[in-house]
Amino acid sequence: MPQIAFIGLGHMGLPMARNLLKNGYSVTAFDLVTEAVTSLAGEGAKAATSAAEAVRDASVVISMLPASRHVEGLYLGEGGLLEKITPGSLVLECSTIAPDSARKVHGAAAARGIALLDAPVSGGTAGAAAGTLTFMVGGKAETLEKARPILAAMGKNIFHAGPDGAGQVAKVCNNQLLAVHMIGTAESMALGVANGLDPAVLAEIMRQSSGGNWSLEKYNPWPGVMENAPASKGYSGGFMAELMAKDLGLAQEAAQVTGNSTPMGALALQLYRMLLKQGDGKLDFSAVQKLFVEKPQG
Ligand code: NAD
Repeated sequence: MPQIAFIGLGHMGLPMARNLLKNGYSVTAFDLVTEAVTSLAGEGAKAATSAAEAVRDASVVISMLPASRHVEGLYLGEGGLLEKITPGSLVLECSTIAPDSARKVHGAAAARGIALLDAPVSGGTAGAAAGTLTFMVGGKAETLEKARPILAAMGKNIFHAGPDGAGQVAKVCNNQLLAVHMIGTAESMALGVANGLDPAVLAEIMRQSSGGNWSLEKYNPWPGVMENAPASKGYSGGFMAELMAKDLGLAQEAAQVTGNSTPMGALALQLYRMLLKQGDGKLDFSAVQKLFVEKPQG
């Protein structure tokens, strides 16, 4: 089994790395936050004190970082990680970043003889913990076949979206839609509750009716409706609103390049910016509920 270096042990990376350990892979882990590394080391991983140390003996490198600048900062340029990774290795870059940024990293990896896939994920922290993520993969089909057993240890659905960067394009399209149906769900929940409905009853009616969607199914934004949803834990854990705003910005950039009209995505971005402005950027993205009712009660 290959030795895997895992870089970025945040909300998503930590549970993903845990699933690799559970599936018998040997993992060397690094994050800028030492506690995350220590925590995984307690579960059988080797702790590294730098990204360069993590990749030293690895033939597979996985990264799960916040945004394009972190990924480019890690891999590219003089002294960048691509210079430290052994040629012939496989890199699975799972962060959600700009397609152009992903293509830049692809190009630099290919020049060093390193096979790379952009492999952003969907499924949230619950999917990461359960090992049921969806991977949207951009890059060569033969590279994906090599990566498939490793991705299968962390996810259930593995899609080849197309060539370099295509995984990221699929991901921004998906997250634009996710933001739109989350905002629509929050708006309808607030309307129903303001008009006297029990939030749990309303949620169940809409879930089973034509308004049904993933937010109602798995991630209701109203506190107390779903015990394990971030809304019921003070909007903690999950997917930070500031990361959703980042993804909506990426969707707008992509639309700018092709001249597509994306009015729903544009409005969703504005609403998330308002949420960030009121200081809620670190909360889960379902906290968009707060724009429709100041203090949603469970
Ligand atoms: P996070 O902020 O919780 O985790 C990112 C981690 O990367 C942090 O622990 C940070 O310390 C670490 N990091 C940053 N720069 C680093 C560097 N140079 N070296 C080592 N570690 C570094 O974010 P997250 O929620 O885990 O999301 C990660 C990515 O996955 C993002 O691109 C996000 O858009 C995407 N995503 C998140 C979710 C979700 O539900 N949270 C779902 C799908 C996709």
